[in-house]
Amino acid sequence: MGPGPINADPRVLRAMSAQLLGQYDPAMTAYMTETMGLYREVFRTANEQTLLIDGTSRAGIEAALVSMIEPGDRVLVPVFGRFGHLLREIAERSGAEVHVREAEWGTVFTPEQIEQAVIETEPKILAVVHGDTSTTMAQPLDELGAICREHGVIFYTDVTASLAGNTFETDAWGLDAVTAGLQKCLAGPSGSAPATFSPRAVELINARKSIEAGIRSDGDEVRATPIRSNYFDLAMIFDYWGSKRLNHHTEATSMLYGSRECARLLVDEGIDNAVERHRMHGGAMLEGLRGLGLEIFGDVSHKMNNVTAVYIPDAVSGDAVRGELLDDFGIEIGTSFGPLHGKVWRIGTMGYNARKDTVLTTLAAFEQVLRRAGASVTAGGGVGAAYDFYADEAAGANAGEAAGADVREAELADLERAGL
Ligand SMILES: *Cc1c(COP(=O)(O)O)cnc(C)c1O
Repeated sequence: MGPGPINADPRVLRAMSAQLLGQYDPAMTAYMTETMGLYREVFRTANEQTLLIDGTSRAGIEAALVSMIEPGDRVLVPVFGRFGHLLREIAERSGAEVHVREAEWGTVFTPEQIEQAVIETEPKILAVVHGDTSTTMAQPLDELGAICREHGVIFYTDVTASLAGNTFETDAWGLDAVTAGLQKCLAGPSGSAPATFSPRAVELINARKSIEAGIRSDGDEVRATPIRSNYFDLAMIFDYWGSKRLNHHTEATSMLYGSRECARLLVDEGIDNAVERHRMHGGAMLEGLRGLGLEIFGDVSHKMNNVTAVYIPDAVSGDAVRGELLDDFGIEIGTSFGPLHGKVWRIGTMGYNARKDTVLTTLAAFEQVLRRAGASVTAGGGVGAAYDFYADEAAGANAGEAAGADVREAELADLERAGL
């Protein structure tokens, strides 16, 4: 129950145990094409270039940034947590002139603040994290696409922590490049980075295409300053996933099976339903922690559904409590980084672990461990508050259904009156 990685869905683990295939086996190329289609639904995009980067989430970040940044390009990075610092670091290593704006941990930026920074720095690329697990905050992105279009800026985001657990729209929000990972709300293991690129981003990347020696054909362009990474050269990776099937790396077959299954399960559930599931169980965890008498960190109105940070009570050692939860109950919760280190625990309700039983069991165990450690917690307050939250949700859903039934009855009565 930490901020990721989490338990994988057993169906994903099963898919990963299938036999390997050669990368030009028609079954394999069909899986690749099918996986592109499934991730278009997960990312909510029509982008042709929707594919997997082999490696953990930061492989996706690195592929996107190193392929789009030419040395000397200006990149704006609004930082509101640890992973904003990572974007800055990767952009700098890619040779960019990076401009940073910082928000206090536990808060996010307003669109006006970001537009102001865009005007001041005139970047080629705006690179911003969507949900940052280090602070639990989700930066609102829905108004930033229009700002980027107006100022001719390429808009990139890292949705590793947020995708499938929080509303996210690649096309409707005007994103040009988006990268993710499996080990958070996608219920898979780390090791594959789903990503999508708009036609604008693809044009920019393909303008830098320089096919490597050994697989080059006559007429292929060779550039003096190719993309700085071969492994993460998206221009070549697009040709590998596209109809050319130009050879690049050996696809990580088992990870492809796992990634495909993560997306298949989400599409089967419905992306909106998956987000709703995270909202419900994350809400129950939040109310349960409050019910224990604990204080929540950060601006809760901008908190991601799938992770909650809670202050460590003065009386207890954060690491000792985490150790006991793990040893005695087999439950892992997260520590924290940077300015929050030693101050908060981070508790996830994501992917396969966004369930009622995991929420209630964690709250019950947490109460006992906290009390033994010397914290004053409300007896039964955690599980009780979570139960109340679930009951309110169910009553709300029933009221909604009842209201829906009234509408349907009224419609039927109208039809009857009209003689239909
Ligand atoms: C968890 C997380 C990552 C993880 O990156 P890995 O390379 O998979 O370790 C990246 N970005 C964000 C925003 C995250 O929350």
